[in-house]
Amino acid sequence: MMFDQIIGNGNTVRTLQNAASGGPLNHAYLLHGTKGTGKRMLARIFAQAILCRGENRPCKTCSACLKVEKGVHPDLVMVQKPEGKANILVDQVRSLREQVYIRPNESGYRVVIIEESESMNLSAANALLKVLEEPPGYVVFILTANNISALPETIASRCLCLEMQEVSLYQAEKWLFSHYPDGEAAILEDALSYGNGNLGRSIAYMEEETCRQGFDRALTVARSLTTEREYDILEALSPFDGDKDGFLQLLTDLDAMMAQVAIAGTGSTNLRQAAALSQKIRPMQAVHIHELTDEIRSKILYNGNGTLMQNLFCARLKTIMER
Ligand SMILES: [Zn+2]
Repeated sequence: MMFDQIIGNGNTVRTLQNAASGGPLNHAYLLHGTKGTGKRMLARIFAQAILCRGENRPCKTCSACLKVEKGVHPDLVMVQKPEGKANILVDQVRSLREQVYIRPNESGYRVVIIEESESMNLSAANALLKVLEEPPGYVVFILTANNISALPETIASRCLCLEMQEVSLYQAEKWLFSHYPDGEAAILEDALSYGNGNLGRSIAYMEEETCRQGFDRALTVARSLTTEREYDILEALSPFDGDKDGFLQLLTDLDAMMAQVAIAGTGSTNLRQAAALSQKIRPMQAVHIHELTDEIRSKILYNGNGTLMQNLFCARLKTIMER
């Protein structure tokens, strides 16, 4: 991938592109924004551009670029959550600290990418802080975070913070149709609807069966609202009984769908599912459902009882639809 393949987010992309092609290079960057907005991809392109020995960085052809691509460049250090773990652990940060003090082997820089940096536990974050405070001059840190508020302020304040945002539906549509030229139009349309401007979510829809199931389930719940019978809503929600994670995912998926329904209600969509739902769900009702999904999601995350929340959700949906 190259810088110009990142959709939208012009200021962020230009800042990194200039920094990698001779502009002032900071010692630490923090790319933050919702999951699926392309932070991980941009972090890799930026790292490759810093290490590149060619022109028009990243040139994709020099030996440094090829090594980054293969994941074997000795001056690129990657830190990620270990598989199946919820946190980046202090041992990982200690090991990266050791590597940081070794001078670069092949390029003028040693680049460290820390993905989902907000998942560092407290001791890992403290260990990182020590090296962030006085890093060797040849080190560039690139942190990514889905949720910047979960990252200690002491870390964020030592980085140049750049936000990655979701893109317009128009940009997402153009990107999707050009990257999946053989994709069926109806499926691409649902992927667009599922992502609602979040390209990562749209790509996941194209690649992962579970996302398509999520879309179908959200659609079933949305359709149950249009009958205004409480029983139908309860039945549509029944697959999530005792499945807190599944229910949280439904809230996210239904939320994205309601954003489309609200737009469709003002007559400016070509997404057929949203257009059909907007015949029965008015824009204001879609907005109220959006607020409700937010509220229920935070209640569950603050240790709410999943089953109780599900019943509350059902009752409140019915009230919204009766207005
Ligand atoms: Zn290169």
